[in-house]
Amino acid sequence: AKENGKNDFQIFMPFLLLKNLNKIEIEKNLRKAIENDEFVLYYQPVVNLENMEIHSVEALIRWFLAQKGMVSPLEFIPVAEESGLIVRIGEVVIEKALKDLKDWEQRGINDIHMAINLSARQFKTKYFENTVAKLLEKYSVDPFKISFEITETGAVENFDVSLKILGFLCQMGIKFLIDDFGTGYSSLVYLKRLPISGIKIDKSFISELEFSKESRAIVEGIILMAHKLGLKVVAEGIENKKELEILKGIGCDFGQGYLFSKPLPKDEVESLLLQKKIL
Ligand code: C2E
Ligand code: CA
Ligand code: CA
Ligand code: CA
Repeated sequence: AKENGKNDFQIFMPFLLLKNLNKIEIEKNLRKAIENDEFVLYYQPVVNLENMEIHSVEALIRWFLAQKGMVSPLEFIPVAEESGLIVRIGEVVIEKALKDLKDWEQRGINDIHMAINLSARQFKTKYFENTVAKLLEKYSVDPFKISFEITETGAVENFDVSLKILGFLCQMGIKFLIDDFGTGYSSLVYLKRLPISGIKIDKSFISELEFSKESRAIVEGIILMAHKLGLKVVAEGIENKKELEILKGIGCDFGQGYLFSKPLPKDEVESLLLQKKIL
């Protein structure tokens, strides 16, 4: 794995590129970005901690502004959500991800799964299920290879709407993961009333693992309870071997983080997918 992944990323990405613009201007730029197809997907491997093979990749959106550099999703996703533009951007993301997954399949990479982030506003729009079904058909992708990541709050807000949409997509074979688990207030027991198949423990817990007995107890407890409820667990933000060893020791199923690989453009992640084993 690349030890300097994190530094590369920071040098490459001028943070807060949009800080001098107001929301209206960002919105205007986002609309143009949709028209001009300025969004790109990067992919970060998710590793099966039992055999250290890549199980899936998570699609992470990047926005390249001509001559200016890359804008972080942390900056523009909130504006996109507020303005409703996330619905269109989200569609673009799903379409690009399915297309790339199909490309990989055609090059003999058959056993890789794809995780796609959804914002609450996006998956609760009318006809979201239809959009997904149409795109799966267009690229003839097996729904069993797809998982959608949604946040705790997004999942439990308008619970009945969530239940209906998740239920429909689940029947098709798509899986749902609860993202940033531990940062919200909802309980696993409540979440379990939705058809979810796993949780992603937020990286804020993982970074404290090596220093704090309490964090370790919390993560261990989350994993135990998740497993009892039949859920798989992914740890986000694994940055060093020590964190990895602790997580393996307490039975975490999957891991993701700079220790394995930072998010990479399609062509670069492809060579990792071909080699399959990581570290
Ligand atoms: P997230 O879904 O929690 O994604 C994980 C974030 O952690 C990513 O940031 C990833 O690059 C970063 N990361 C991965 N490994 C490490 C590590 O070892 N250490 C540290 N410090 N960070 C790590 P990124 O790509 O900047 O995305 C930020 C957030 O933007 C995502 O958080 C997600 O909430 C949102 N986002 C990204 N792409 C999409 C998208 O296509 N749609 C939607 N709705 N949201 C997206
Ligand atoms: Ca995610
Ligand atoms: Ca997170
Ligand atoms: Ca750390």
